[in-house]
Amino acid sequence: MATPFNSAQIRQSNLRTLLLAVRDKGPVSKPELQAYTQLSWGAVSLLTGDLERMGYIVPLGKRGGAVGRKASEYVINTSDNFAIGIELHALGIRLVVTDLLGKPQKQFFQHILQMDYEGVTDVLFELTDSALKSMENRRIVGIGIAAQGVVDYETKTSLYFPRVRGWENVPLGKLFEERYNIKTLVMHDPNCILDAEKHFGTSGLGKYKNAALLRIDKGIGMAMMIDGQVNILPSGAEIGHICVNYNGPRCVCGNYGCLSEYASLDGIVRRYYEAVGNGPQSGTEAPPADHHFIATRAQAGDQLCRSLFDMMGSYLGVALSTVCNLFPLEQIVLYGEATDYKNLFDQQLRQSLYDHLYLKREIQIRYSTLNVQAPAVGAALSVCDSFLRKSSFPRQEKRNTEPAERFRQAFDLRAGYAGKKRSVGQGYFCNDRCGGLVGIVLKHTMA
Ligand SMILES: [Zn+2]
Repeated sequence: MATPFNSAQIRQSNLRTLLLAVRDKGPVSKPELQAYTQLSWGAVSLLTGDLERMGYIVPLGKRGGAVGRKASEYVINTSDNFAIGIELHALGIRLVVTDLLGKPQKQFFQHILQMDYEGVTDVLFELTDSALKSMENRRIVGIGIAAQGVVDYETKTSLYFPRVRGWENVPLGKLFEERYNIKTLVMHDPNCILDAEKHFGTSGLGKYKNAALLRIDKGIGMAMMIDGQVNILPSGAEIGHICVNYNGPRCVCGNYGCLSEYASLDGIVRRYYEAVGNGPQSGTEAPPADHHFIATRAQAGDQLCRSLFDMMGSYLGVALSTVCNLFPLEQIVLYGEATDYKNLFDQQLRQSLYDHLYLKREIQIRYSTLNVQAPAVGAALSVCDSFLRKSSFPRQEKRNTEPAERFRQAFDLRAGYAGKKRSVGQGYFCNDRCGGLVGIVLKHTMA
């Protein structure tokens, strides 16, 4: 048998509903909130007042047509509560402080010079200490970490972090919560980018229920959203290690012919050296090639370099067609440094994806226009969302009923009901500043 909710639980739930509605629809007026949440006018009126008093929302101003009263509009209070988002990446650690809507207010970045456990955690804590110090006594509602590698969201653990010695099963969430006493989330970086893309991107990802986001730079990561739910399993979307050519070169993971050997920037560099028949250490006459060098040569028309990007597009299409044959993806968004060279592989990617689809259909391919802050911003967005969804609001304050009582007495007097008995459950709605509903009496039972 279902347990009935008590009035305190209903109040908490309604406050959360309104708070999320203000976040999603703001600036929004009370009539619009009522239409959107389907709560009663009394509840909307009363609870927006509570949320405003508690500092969660603020009135923005008034809006209205030429006729009738103008309605106050509300937005989330972005001045008093903040979140921290951190991107844990082998190339460096980036930290942003955002407001409750995920808009960055401050940014910090530091390279990791010592690629081991101490080196990484030292930079992580140094940046977080600096960020917290810069916020003085402002409230930080949570810390979100977008980590490369493999992550266990449930236990807040970074299971594997590429290129870092001695990094295994690091309980990042626990380390942060013990050190700062601030709730911490640990997520896979592509999931965070997907979140940032939904909120701030130009790809229109938010419109779709089934989509994927690929991050392609030195490696390849992917986030998948199926039926509106983002996959959070630790081994969910390792597209970089899908085998696209079982006779292919050995991958860093130990298998052969993985996608990342052809389609990541490091993979392209390895294929270049394989093709020219030497390694980065063997020649002294030519400068060591990196992906910039190879891309520049490809743009200039070099046959070999162009063929490497053709191969990247073709194998990306093969791997993505596999995903699309398994899941009903409607859109795929690409993010990361490799998208700087999209003109070199986009056509092959689209053609190869279409050629290898079982059920031929149009799948939108888009390139993210978000900047390098996207993973950290996405991590902060998750923290803000968790804070708004799980907020436990203070118990209802005792209201000042004095103006309401005066209103009731005045009404009674005017209506000739002074001193008469009233029906139970009927009362007044007070428009004075007492906070709204005080028990409206619509009908009176004569004594
Ligand atoms: Zn692999």
